[in-house]
Amino acid sequence: MDADEPLLRVRDLRVTLRTPRGPADALRGVSFALHRGETVGLIGESGSGKSLTGLALIGLLPEEAQVAGSMRFAGRELVGLAEPEWCRLRGDRIAMVFQEPMTALNPLHPVGRQIGESLRLHKGLDARAARAEALRLLERVRMPRAARRLDAWPHQLSGGQRQRVLVAIALACKPDLLIADEPTTALDATLQREVLQLIATLVREDRLALLLISHDLGLMGENVQRSMVMYGGTVVESGPTADVFRRLAHPYTRGLFAARPRIGLPRGTRLPTIPGRVPELADLPAGCPFADRCDRVTDACRAAPPPPVPVAGDSGHVARCIHLDTFA
Ligand code: ADP
Ligand code: MG
Repeated sequence: MDADEPLLRVRDLRVTLRTPRGPADALRGVSFALHRGETVGLIGESGSGKSLTGLALIGLLPEEAQVAGSMRFAGRELVGLAEPEWCRLRGDRIAMVFQEPMTALNPLHPVGRQIGESLRLHKGLDARAARAEALRLLERVRMPRAARRLDAWPHQLSGGQRQRVLVAIALACKPDLLIADEPTTALDATLQREVLQLIATLVREDRLALLLISHDLGLMGENVQRSMVMYGGTVVESGPTADVFRRLAHPYTRGLFAARPRIGLPRGTRLPTIPGRVPELADLPAGCPFADRCDRVTDACRAAPPPPVPVAGDSGHVARCIHLDTFA
């Protein structure tokens, strides 16, 4: 493998799903690279394709989904991988922290055993060694009274503690890539911050690559080096987080920031929101996916999907909008 080759390179990833209204393109040419030790955020409203991107990367798309394009991971093509090979990778080299700790954990097994399971499966540890390692992992995710929690059932833990267990499971085999899909939405604001900071710290210590999926711009700004803004199944803007958050080059990114709730506003202040809503897959326009909600739209926007245009400098900040220069 080339030394400069990123850990993950996604090229023109396309996913077609079956819907009640016929086959629909849910991902429409997603491309990005992720290096070891790099943290990248995927931002966007609900329905923009963030979770599908994560699921594609861990081989958990709906069975009937059609996948095209390329996902090269550690020198290996993931598109078209057979299920037994996915099983070897999943939980071992690529791990995921899901949004809903109550459904992601098995209610019938103590959490220590659930943490040890992938160590037994992927690393061949016996029950005793797996239990010892599970304890170490619970301590690492700062579980209070970790030794006693090994034999606890999920329902005996608080939401924050369950989320810590999921992080422990994801990190158990020291994966190369961690995907965290809205890992904190079930938690209150203080716990959200704590769990995300924990994930960020552990990712840094293990030099993992992190793909963090969230619609919370504040949490994103604090936790990832690069950001990708997703809409209508494509990445409409991406670059170093500081640049993306400062420039807000794409009209959709601007709308997202204007619509975010802020602390300190007088009660009852009306938030400017993006008019319209995320279209259903079958209703996405052929050109720019944001065309129907954009106040700068022209006929040319609807003709073809806009190519990525460099925003400023050579930091890799790009946006898919043909009117960028008119906003400066
Ligand atoms: P996000 O995570 O950004 O909220 P998703 O990736 O979950 O969005 O979904 C993107 C689009 O794909 C949405 O329009 C959603 O309704 C659709 N979708 C997701 N999963 C399925 C599925 N299993 N079958 C049909 N459509 C789906
Ligand atoms: Mg989602």
